[in-house]
Amino acid sequence: MILVTGAGGFIGGHLVGKLTQMGESVRAVDIKPLSEWWQVHQSADSVGQADLTILDTCLEQMEECSQVYNLAADMGGMGFIHSAECEIMRHSALINLNMVEAAAKLGVGRYFFSSSVCVYPDMMPGDDELSEEQVYPANPDNEYGWEKLYAERTALAYGRRYGMTVRIARFQNCFGPYGEWDGGREKAPAALCRKVAQAGNGGVIEVWGDGSAVRSYTYISDMVDGIVRLMSSELEGPVNIGNPEYVTVDELVQIICEIADRKVTIKHVDGPVGVHSRNFSIGRIESLGWKANYSTKDGIAKTYPWIAEQVRTSLRNIGGS
Ligand code: NAD
Repeated sequence: MILVTGAGGFIGGHLVGKLTQMGESVRAVDIKPLSEWWQVHQSADSVGQADLTILDTCLEQMEECSQVYNLAADMGGMGFIHSAECEIMRHSALINLNMVEAAAKLGVGRYFFSSSVCVYPDMMPGDDELSEEQVYPANPDNEYGWEKLYAERTALAYGRRYGMTVRIARFQNCFGPYGEWDGGREKAPAALCRKVAQAGNGGVIEVWGDGSAVRSYTYISDMVDGIVRLMSSELEGPVNIGNPEYVTVDELVQIICEIADRKVTIKHVDGPVGVHSRNFSIGRIESLGWKANYSTKDGIAKTYPWIAEQVRTSLRNIGGS
């Protein structure tokens, strides 16, 4: 049995789909009630609600599991990361401490931890790419990154002591359908798709910062493919996973507008932006035969229609109530 935590969330939901398609037996767990999961896969052996900040719950959920993919986290985009520092530092740390302790106690063979490129320091446009070990000397831009770095080190320490195989991916921004798109936890691609969908042709959308921040955006099916490849590999230590195509926030808006076939005017406003730029080596994940099959535009072409439909549905619901 394989345990996937955070299965009611974005990446966890897609991962359960992929693993069950591969014929694996999966137990899918999240703190949210099932009615709030983005995807509930009937093909999973079990789906359930559990609070993984509690050690006994982690032990219960992990029973008879030979592999664990831990994607549960108190998490969101930049707005959430800056306003919920204490929740992130407490809840995610408790999840990660108790999950790895339970895995070691129960003799789980393989343990996957979902880290983030937020562990790296700020970068400037044009900086040379950073490889995984260049995370040190550590200086993450936010508390989310510090918690991830601590959790990485905790998982690696448990792996060393208890002979457990630990695999760690540092995800770049990931996007696609069936994830947060409104309400404060959504990340930039989803928020910008929503704003374009709401603005209509010729409308104005607000973009946090001056629009020059450089990021890479990885489509969900590529990310899930990387996770599964990494888990079954012999690659030790953290591994960056991300699309090698880098774009500014304003360029991302242009891509969304092309897909939506809309013209909008961007109004830059104050807001939490995060680091100036990103540029990471993906040689380690590529050594497993991984590559990004979706460009940013191809991924937006899959994502925008889903978000536009959510916007239309929510407007219909408001209209009908
Ligand atoms: P998400 O918020 O959609 O999913 C996380 C899930 O964890 C949520 O459904 C949430 O309810 C669940 N959760 C929170 N607290 C819990 C608890 N106490 N017990 C059980 N479940 C709990 O986020 P996501 O985008 O799917 O991210 C998954 C993982 O990948 C996270 O660790 C995140 O930090 C990491 N990550 C994501 C991105 C990205 O771009 N989405 C980038 C870097 C890293």
